Amino acid sequence: MKVEAVRGMTDILPEETSLWQYVEAEIREAVALYGYREIRTPIVERAELFARGVGETTDIVHKEMYVFPDKKGQLLALRPEATASVVRAYIEHGLYARGGVAKLYYLGPMFRYEKPQKGRKRQFHQYGVEALGSLDPALDAEVIDLAWYLMERLGLRREGLFLRLNSIGCPRDRPRYREALREYFLPHREGLCTDCQRRLDENPLRILDCNGHTCQEIARDAPRSLDYLCEGCRAHFDELLGYLDALGLAYEKDPKLVRGLDYYTRTVFELASRDLGAQDALLGGGRYDGLAEALGGPPTPGVGFAGGMERLILVLGEREPGERCYRLISGPRAYLLPVAEEEKAEALKILAALRRAGISADMDYAGRSLRKRLQVAVQRGARYALFLGEEELSRGEGKVRDLETGVEEYVPVGELVPYLQGRS
Ligand code: AMP
Repeated sequence: MKVEAVRGMTDILPEETSLWQYVEAEIREAVALYGYREIRTPIVERAELFARGVGETTDIVHKEMYVFPDKKGQLLALRPEATASVVRAYIEHGLYARGGVAKLYYLGPMFRYEKPQKGRKRQFHQYGVEALGSLDPALDAEVIDLAWYLMERLGLRREGLFLRLNSIGCPRDRPRYREALREYFLPHREGLCTDCQRRLDENPLRILDCNGHTCQEIARDAPRSLDYLCEGCRAHFDELLGYLDALGLAYEKDPKLVRGLDYYTRTVFELASRDLGAQDALLGGGRYDGLAEALGGPPTPGVGFAGGMERLILVLGEREPGERCYRLISGPRAYLLPVAEEEKAEALKILAALRRAGISADMDYAGRSLRKRLQVAVQRGARYALFLGEEELSRGEGKVRDLETGVEEYVPVGELVPYLQGRS
């Protein structure tokens, strides 16, 4: 019986990984310009981290998290997101003691037991940034600016993107807002889906991000968090809007945007693509000023975002790849064609020398005819074919054919490296 990949967990094949590598490289360069340094945290964490960080009543933890006991019965989880892990590491390694703002970024796989569909997987990949240690709304603006810059750098048009923005206030505002939501939804209880009926008791905020059509209809006129902000949160939001205006970044206030994670406070946002359909959020983020404390660390405000690689690749895949991407996809520079078995050892030596000189080179190991192998060289996008026949090699030479121009030249084996290096 064939063993297949797990549903919702996809292989990324070589023809796709070039684009992935290109996007990853762009992300690394972009975030470095904003002062972020990479952090790599484990994929497996204690389940408790996400229960306490992301929230017990969120779909991510309640329904979608992969949880399993290890051999000692300790409950572990495949990380469904990385902010909780980054903050855990920040506390565990005392990064706060360095003072100032810690700017950290990550890239890697996340796991959620969701219904797989276009742009939604069970193993998916996120890139994200976290800036810890400041309450300044200018930092929120900088983080949002970075999100825009990243998308623009990858070649997405501003007109094809839009920013949804909201403030959900602080823990002081939350009980009042929660109560208002509960009062609003209570008369509609019977119309809500069973999940939202539970949410109504546990955490009515979560009803606002239910995808069900009826629940969305009911939620249309629900109280808005912006009307329940305390003075401090209102000022923070107004200042942020001022900074976004100064940066020339457009936004749409979205009163229903609460994001499906409990740790958010104040600013929440999503950058979405008009080309993506139902799952249109390219990235989402916000402030989480209470998270570090909830995880047992010193009170430390934070702001960040996470974006989905799969969705980015979907949007980018429909466009012409950029020049840097082409460089990554391009085939070997030289393709070696030993005419017979006897020339193979010499071919191996030349391959090793070319590669050590930084020239990509390859040959065929499938035992195909010379004609077929030449076709492979062309298909793989090689620039030069290097024929190694008995006659040439007896003179210590190989025959180089420029596959673009068709021009051929005999080149001494010892001079192949400078010969190929000297050509564009
Ligand atoms: P979240 O961690 O839920 O705030 O999601 C942040 C971003 O990650 C979203 O905007 C998506 O781009 C991406 N994302 C979240 N869940 C998935 C998934 N199951 N499959 C693919 N991408 C996802």
